[in-house]
Amino acid sequence: MSRVVVITGPSGVGKGTLIRLLREQLPQLGLSVSATTRPPRPGERDGVEYHFLDEPEFARLAFEGAFVEHAEYAGRRYGTLRSELERRAAAGEPVVLEIEVQGARQVREAIPDALLVFIAPPSREALRERLVGRGTDMPEVVERRLGVAELELRAQDEFEFVVVNDRLEDAVRELVAVVREAIGGPVDCEP
Ligand code: ADP
Ligand code: 5GP
Repeated sequence: MSRVVVITGPSGVGKGTLIRLLREQLPQLGLSVSATTRPPRPGERDGVEYHFLDEPEFARLAFEGAFVEHAEYAGRRYGTLRSELERRAAAGEPVVLEIEVQGARQVREAIPDALLVFIAPPSREALRERLVGRGTDMPEVVERRLGVAELELRAQDEFEFVVVNDRLEDAVRELVAVVREAIGGPVDCEP
């Protein structure tokens, strides 16, 4: 049984959307709140979407070994705090991480029984449309993220589970099945 679930894949593919829907069906799954040096988007709250840190704070925590994994992504730093996982592990709760590919590789090394799932877009055009349509990033940031996505898409064969997020309902169903199996949650019975 795996207590740590990693959802990875390119920016804009739908990781956040899928995790929200996944947790509606598996409410026992806690969400690891990452640390980042990127500025908050409108509406994002410190300690909820992310722990927003400045560069020296992030560097200090990295130096102290406070991160299970950390990576630079499109010019900003992101990392999973050990405390986020240890708190849940002590309570016996499963936890989900939404992280990019370099971080997912580090988790695979650090936590060999973690479940890793790569979320793939149905096409590159769809990925672009979603990133633009989300409306959270300036055009140059979208282009930078699409550049990183090219490298990330090439890494998908490294992952045991790949879910293509084409129709959202289908992707959620697939993801719930894989995660439920891994965390050993209760199986729903048809009425
Ligand atoms: P990520 O967390 O991977 O960066 P998001 O969850 O923010 O991606 O999704 C990016 C955008 O794509 C959002 O506007 C979201 O509503 C949309 N989206 C997610 N899944 C689908 C899907 N299956 N079909 C169409 N749009 C989607
Ligand atoms: P965003 O800026 O869109 O919130 O996130 C950018 C990318 O960083 C996304 O692919 C997201 O999954 C990833 N990310 C978020 N938190 C972490 C983390 O703790 N570690 C790593 N390695 N990547 C993260």
